[in-house]
Amino acid sequence: MDIYTKQRMKMVDSQIRSRGIRDERLLKAMELIPRHIFVDEGLADQAYNDNPLPIGEGQTISQPYMVALMTEALELKGGEKVLEIGTGSGYQSAILSKLADRVFSIEKIASLAGRARSILDLLGCFNVLTRVGDGSYGWRGEAPFDGIIVTAGAPDIPMPILEQLTIGGSLVIPVGSLSSQTLLRLTRLSEDIEDVKREDLGGCRFVSLIGEYGWGS
Ligand code: SAH
Repeated sequence: MDIYTKQRMKMVDSQIRSRGIRDERLLKAMELIPRHIFVDEGLADQAYNDNPLPIGEGQTISQPYMVALMTEALELKGGEKVLEIGTGSGYQSAILSKLADRVFSIEKIASLAGRARSILDLLGCFNVLTRVGDGSYGWRGEAPFDGIIVTAGAPDIPMPILEQLTIGGSLVIPVGSLSSQTLLRLTRLSEDIEDVKREDLGGCRFVSLIGEYGWGS
């Protein structure tokens, strides 16, 4: 077993399983996906630490536990169509690619999107479709989605995104101020866009969602 595989197994045990994540498919995906190739070579030895890391352009790859918590909240079984807003490094997309049928991911910063795309190709994650743009509008041409995950903090729930959920589908999103947010899960219950179940999954701190339905461009 190479050093990174060892670190990865340890990460899943000590940071993910131990904190109550039980979805076996998710735990397997996290044991499988080489997180260290999603960060700069100079940071590879820190890739399995219990914290976010810089990925350039003032952005970060989320803490492994946050990726696990958000992904588990989508309750994926394998047949779903999922939207991610904020591709960043591509790590979260790669995890989703193992758990859903198709993944659509939007990133605002072209250089990050390009880098993420090459890593996803290298890993053979061909069920992930990526695009550069303002994800606060969602991805109307591909809607509706069974699950939507927003990996940047928003001041409010972007309505276009909520409208792109299937009935029964969930949106997982950090909402709050620029410096701290609450992770929310909103489950759409009917055609009526106001008819949603809202659950609080705890406090968090994300980089900002910059866009029309985010913090402004
Ligand atoms: N899921 C990522 C986390 C990246 S951090 C990972 O696994 O690495 C959040 C990302 O959201 C940043 O790359 C940032 O550029 C991007 N972002 C911010 N506002 C956005 C918007 N309106 N549309 C798309 N991406 C956005």
